[in-house]
Amino acid sequence: MKVFAHKEPGAPAEELEVERPELDGSAVIVRVTHSGVCHSDVHCQDGYFDLGDAGRYELTAAGARYPVVLGHEIVGEVVAAGPDATLTPGDTKFIVFPWIGCGDCHACSEDRENYCSRRKRNLSVQLRGGYAEEVYLPDERYLVPLGDIDPSFGATLACSGLTSYSAAKKIMPVPADEPVAVIGAGGVGLMTIAVLRALGHQNIVAVDMSEAALANATKIGASATVTVGGQNLVTEIVTAGGGKIAAAIDLVNNGDTSNAALFAMANGGTLVSVGLFGGQYKFPTALAAFNLLNIRGNFVGSLPELKELVQLAQDANLPVPPIKEAPLNAQEVNAALDGLRQRTLNGRAVLVAP
Ligand SMILES: [Zn+2]
Ligand SMILES: [Zn+2]
Repeated sequence: MKVFAHKEPGAPAEELEVERPELDGSAVIVRVTHSGVCHSDVHCQDGYFDLGDAGRYELTAAGARYPVVLGHEIVGEVVAAGPDATLTPGDTKFIVFPWIGCGDCHACSEDRENYCSRRKRNLSVQLRGGYAEEVYLPDERYLVPLGDIDPSFGATLACSGLTSYSAAKKIMPVPADEPVAVIGAGGVGLMTIAVLRALGHQNIVAVDMSEAALANATKIGASATVTVGGQNLVTEIVTAGGGKIAAAIDLVNNGDTSNAALFAMANGGTLVSVGLFGGQYKFPTALAAFNLLNIRGNFVGSLPELKELVQLAQDANLPVPPIKEAPLNAQEVNAALDGLRQRTLNGRAVLVAP
C-alpha cells in the first residue's frame, strides 16, 4: 500500500510502497478517503515537542519509528477485515478513532485509551497514520459511523473536534452565564467555542492576538473578545467576562497565557491546558491553594467522547469551519504542513483521495 512518509525528522513527505499488514482477530484495513492535516503534525514532522525548560520530547521517545506516516484525522471505508470482524468490506464511511492505547491497562479497560501510559498505538505516532492510501486498525471497534456528516468535516472531528469536546467537558458543569475564557481562536479554539455553545454555555470570552481570528470567534458564538497586546491581559479578561472567570480552556498554553488565566480565575475555577506551544507555569503555589484552583491537562479524547461528539455534530448542527480540500498525495501533504507552519492557511486543510 502507498504511504506518504517522512524518512527522518524535518524531512518532507514522500511516496513509499509498504507491505499491507496481515489481519488477525478484528483488525481491519481502511481505505482513506479524507485525511485532515492537523497542527500537531507540524511538531511531529519536526520530530519533537517543546517542553519549555525541560527541553524536548522526541517523537521517537514516544515510540515512533522512521519512516513515520503522519495524519490522524481520517475518514474512510473498510476494504479488508480480519476473521473475527463483523464489518464486511463495503461503502459505508467511518471516522477513525486514532488515539488507541495498549488495550490491557486500567485506563484502556475503562475506554479512556487517551490516558494509557503503557504501549500506546496512536495512529500517526506508533502506528502508521492517514497520509496514505490505506491505514491499518488493530480493531474494528475504533470505527465510528460518519452518518450524514460532511466527510471532510467528519475527519476533523477525530482530533481538533475531539480535543475541543473533551476539554469543554472537563470544565462542566458550570452555570451558563458564568464567564469562560477560550484562549486561542484558531481551528481548535473555534471548535471549542462551537462545542461550548452547543452544550448551552453563553458567556464565552475569546482571547487571541489576531483580530481576524477574534472576528471568526464572534461569528461562531463568543460573547466577548480580548485582543492580546501590551495591556494587562488579566484585567481585560475579567472585564470582558463581567467578573473573574469560572474556567479557561487554553489552546495556546505558552506560559504567559496559562498565568493570565490562573490570575483571572475565580475561586474553585478550572484551567484546562491544551496547547503545545511550550512554556512553564509560573504561578504562586499558595494562591492555587487559597483559590482552590484546578489545573487539568487535556490530550485529545476517548472513543466514547468521539461517539458523543459525532452525535452532537448531528443533533446540534455544529458550525463547520472553513475547510480547504486538496488531493491526497505527498506534494499536498507538504503544502498543507507548510501552510500550517507559516500560518498562511485560513481554516482547516483536508486531503481527499482521488
Ligand atoms: Zn491533531
Ligand atoms: Zn492502556
